[in-house]
Amino acid sequence: MKDITIIGAGPVGIYASFYAGLRELSVNLIEALPYIGGQLSALYPEKIIYDLPGYSKIKAQDFIDLLKEQLDTKKEFIDIYCNEEIISIEKKDNYFELRSNNNNVFQSKTILLTCGNGVFSPRHIGIENEELYSNILYAIIDINKFKNKNITILGGGDSALDWALILKDIASNVNIVHRRDQYRAKEDSINKLNKSKVNQYMSYLVETLNGHDNILDNIMIKHKETKEVITLDLDYLIVNYGNVTKVANFGSLALEKEEFGYIVNRVFETNIDGIYACGNAINYQGKPKLITPGLGEVPIVINNIKGYIDPESKNKIFYSSASDNVVK
Ligand SMILES: Cc1cc2nc3c(=O)[nH]c(=O)nc-3n(C[C@H](O)[C@H](O)[C@H](O)COP(=O)(O)OP(=O)(O)OC[C@H]3O[C@@H](n4cnc5c(N)ncnc54)[C@H](O)[C@@H]3O)c2cc1C
Repeated sequence: MKDITIIGAGPVGIYASFYAGLRELSVNLIEALPYIGGQLSALYPEKIIYDLPGYSKIKAQDFIDLLKEQLDTKKEFIDIYCNEEIISIEKKDNYFELRSNNNNVFQSKTILLTCGNGVFSPRHIGIENEELYSNILYAIIDINKFKNKNITILGGGDSALDWALILKDIASNVNIVHRRDQYRAKEDSINKLNKSKVNQYMSYLVETLNGHDNILDNIMIKHKETKEVITLDLDYLIVNYGNVTKVANFGSLALEKEEFGYIVNRVFETNIDGIYACGNAINYQGKPKLITPGLGEVPIVINNIKGYIDPESKNKIFYSSASDNVVK
């Protein structure tokens, strides 16, 4: 049986697993998505982050790769399971039993919830045959595939405009199609877009998807008022309609929660003895839902869990720099 099961492999869950390894605690790290990295890998892997300590700028996926590299230094303590969504937690006498959507069972002495806002999946266009086409993308993992390609982006929020502005210098052509007559994005981005060569189609709705085999060749869009129909040829359609989040539900377990997250005390204990939470999964007064605060919560919660499992270690300050061969 493991010491901790960590639910959710976003940046906070990954770093918590590494830190648990530093403290020689054994870990199950469980992630519902097919890959680790949380929002950074799923929603904005190619975007630049400017507010991480020590990095004046770093690509989101590069930061996850660095966390993964650090995690690997403690891999003897950590088992990682992707494509496993935890759907129930049962408290036994002195351990927990967790069950996933695939009916796999995990056992551990404690649990750390780093499940953010829950399992997210991109909002689809909601149009017939959408699922057939492999060149409709809901997240951008590798920007290089867009080199010299003809791209259409659907959406009018910050993310859609950010991608249009990034891809305009890479792709041969970029169209942006928005269902409203105004963007819901930063003014600066709108100004940049208006000065760019990106073709903008405002107040248009997607009418039809046309393709062959599993390749989408073009979309037909219709103006909401004039009813004008335009056909846009494309190599890739990027759908940027935001995400639907399925709030984590752990069966009958009565975890105290409020609208913006689990309720925890100052050492990140939930109302259930042995279950802890940190990162975007929790809320407290002034809590910013950002990466750095979530990472900062990790040493507090992991050292607290260490003290729970091994009471003799309680209150001992752990300096990684003072321990030889802490990281091989
Ligand atoms: C577009 C965008 C840009 C951003 N830019 C910045 C920025 O510049 N700087 C910054 O600090 N922050 C930024 N953020 C916020 C930042 O991404 C979050 O604060 C951070 O991802 C929180 O990390 P986390 O590990 O707590 O949760 P998440 O990254 O949300 O990871 C939670 C993980 O848990 C998994 N999970 C949930 N429920 C279950 C379950 N039941 N079973 C198994 N797995 C489960 C999810 O699939 C997910 O992978 C941005 C967010 C977005 C959307």
